[in-house]
Amino acid sequence: MKKANQHPFAETLITWYKDHARDLPWRRTQDPYIIWLSEIILQQTRIAQGLPYFYKLTEAFPTVFDLAAADETTLFRLWQGLGYYSRARNLHKTAKYIVESHQGKFPNTYTDLIKLPGVGPYTAAAIASFAFGEASPVVDGNVYRILARYFGIETDILHASARKEFTALAQELIPASDPARFNQAIMEFGSLQCSPSPSCENCPLRTSCVALRDNRVNQLPVKSKAKPQRIRHFHYFIIEQAGRVLVHQRQKKDIWQGLWEFFCVESESLDDAINFYPFLSAMMPYAMSMRSPGIHVLSHQKIVSDAFLIQLPSEYAFSLPEDYQWILSSEFEALGKPVLLLNLITDNIALKEILEG
Ligand code: SF4
Repeated sequence: MKKANQHPFAETLITWYKDHARDLPWRRTQDPYIIWLSEIILQQTRIAQGLPYFYKLTEAFPTVFDLAAADETTLFRLWQGLGYYSRARNLHKTAKYIVESHQGKFPNTYTDLIKLPGVGPYTAAAIASFAFGEASPVVDGNVYRILARYFGIETDILHASARKEFTALAQELIPASDPARFNQAIMEFGSLQCSPSPSCENCPLRTSCVALRDNRVNQLPVKSKAKPQRIRHFHYFIIEQAGRVLVHQRQKKDIWQGLWEFFCVESESLDDAINFYPFLSAMMPYAMSMRSPGIHVLSHQKIVSDAFLIQLPSEYAFSLPEDYQWILSSEFEALGKPVLLLNLITDNIALKEILEG
């Protein structure tokens, strides 16, 4: 039955959702902690990739108190492979904040949720609607795409004004009687039906879709060219001596903050990298080239890397570079590290054996 004042767009989406919704664990709960955790995992991540992480993390940290009490190394290790580690860091920070400042209870309005670290408009709207029934529309790439196509909106979605415009439209469409269902429906519709390669031929909105009518499905939404990807060159030197390897934790505001890696020099040229550190050039007679992990692609960067294994005699002396430390080779396994290094280790048996101790 049609609800009073429900827009036909919302009504069609909700009907479609009843028949097409995937059974996902975070849809079976109204627990704001679980919903929040799933939303953070799913940022920039496909559902199939995120699901095992959801199970791992909810098993390790069933409540916000468990997550707040976790040590960062354990969390990073569980997060390993999911990328965008700032999400894990913010997750931890927010869990602590909720425990310390809110006695473990999530705020129950969009306005308060958005004040939490790492919680943007999309996540705040998702928690507010799914956990607390507030009529706050979620607006992400999927929603931009559906609304731009269905209503024929030409606004560049990368333009600063786009979020305001699309959110205002979604706010008009979201039914106060069932905001959670509408939000889930529009997200699911964007993933399964009005996807980047949409299935217009069997779409329930096809008779009223402006983009389909005007033959502009492939032109909408309008998206100006994104910034070109930055290309970076990382040279790794795995310095091993007497059963220990030299490592450091990435600290500065950059990719992989908080993760561990071997001695690394960023420089376009390998020669420049080696010559910049006299202690390193002196070690090169002991260096053995490793199979390169190749080009590692991140959202806005490409990392081109190579790697050398340097096994030093036990009597070899040198001053440790700043911020680096020795650990037992076998301890490296337990540290959170970038996927690039996991690939490097997997591809080089000699290195794997050294790190297995
Ligand atoms: S007809 Fe095509 S473009 Fe329009 S809403 Fe449906 S799937 Fe999207």
